[in-house]
Amino acid sequence: MDFKKELYSRFERYVKINTQSKEESKTCPSTPGQLKLAKLAAGEMKKIGLKNVVMDRFGYVMASLPSNAAHKVPVIGFLAHLDTSPEVSGENVRPQVHKNYNGKDIVISRKDKIVLSPKTCPQLLECAGHDIITASGGTLLGADNKAGIAIVLTAMEWLIKNPGVKRGAVKIALTPDEEIGRGVDNFNVKKFGAEYAYTVDGDVAGVVEKETFNADSVAIKIKGRNYHPGLAKNLMLNAVRIAADIMSSWPENMLPETTERREGYVLFLTCSAAVEEAALKGIVREHDLGKLKKLERHLEAIVAAKKLKYPGAEIHVEFKKQYRNMKEVIDKRPEVMEHLLSAIKSQGLEPKIKPVRGGTDGARLSFMGLPTPNIFTGGYNFHGKYEWVSLDGMEKSCRTLVALAQEWEKNSGKL
Ligand SMILES: [Zn+2]
Repeated sequence: MDFKKELYSRFERYVKINTQSKEESKTCPSTPGQLKLAKLAAGEMKKIGLKNVVMDRFGYVMASLPSNAAHKVPVIGFLAHLDTSPEVSGENVRPQVHKNYNGKDIVISRKDKIVLSPKTCPQLLECAGHDIITASGGTLLGADNKAGIAIVLTAMEWLIKNPGVKRGAVKIALTPDEEIGRGVDNFNVKKFGAEYAYTVDGDVAGVVEKETFNADSVAIKIKGRNYHPGLAKNLMLNAVRIAADIMSSWPENMLPETTERREGYVLFLTCSAAVEEAALKGIVREHDLGKLKKLERHLEAIVAAKKLKYPGAEIHVEFKKQYRNMKEVIDKRPEVMEHLLSAIKSQGLEPKIKPVRGGTDGARLSFMGLPTPNIFTGGYNFHGKYEWVSLDGMEKSCRTLVALAQEWEKNSGKL
């Protein structure tokens, strides 16, 4: 099989369907384009010979590849998501291939002056000699996560065409609305039937992710006291100013715009304020749960200080749990990572384990009982006009999935 040819022809079909998800929508999937892609992919799954291909009304597509192993092998699953980011248009995406990348700037659109440069995206330098796919300006590419769908289906097709290669049963699933945080809202782990799973939704070749943020939301409510400004001396408690005071007291080195890697932050998302009343909403993020709690204690201490500074004002702070770091679950079942790392090494790649500064569908699945780390797709700069994917990286990902299915078969006798 010519992996690159297969991968590209699938990828090209998928990116032509606009599947941007939509936060404001109340339905699942949030947009009809996702159902269109789900239907197309389900048809292709049947055509290549996958079994039990089912698409439900929410747009979830599930299918299975029965085991051909002589002994019992744990069932593994591969997942990819149907939607693309709502942030940048996904309408009329025109992919272009920049063959045999020479390490210099890539002009995505001369007209719109969109130039992809290794100066701002050094990950490109790892891809010298690769075929790089970008959009053509005005839209995102949709490699996140249509590269993932193309990779999973191509890997399954290869396994079906090579029955001599032994592996256990493999389940696959396509999910809607990942980009708006609802990817597993209607996902039935039991029905899926895998014991371990992998999302194929990561970035450049070799990168795997098994760690997400711990995430809480924060809401601060402030009640001030309004007086006629002419008579306000020693009486007025201006909630607008108190809100601003709280926000500006938060350390500047603990914000999303000043942190990276494993550093946590508080992000104030919205502030609605009048003299009488104000409300702040935000999020707290940290990989380490203990440190997350420390950030929260720090914010509480700031609020306590403001209560002393503005006696009479009521200030109330509340944190709510959003999701937790999947590392906690994955570390308890280390085989899910061990086999993945061996599979990546078997492709001549050095695995790079990177913490995600966000959540993944895998984080929620892990806490639903299905440990689910994330595997690279070969792409980068997701969610924007500079998005790109290396076709060679996609091939590496695809071959990694094939090798991973065999790793589980090889090692299951010893479990
Ligand atoms: Zn994604």
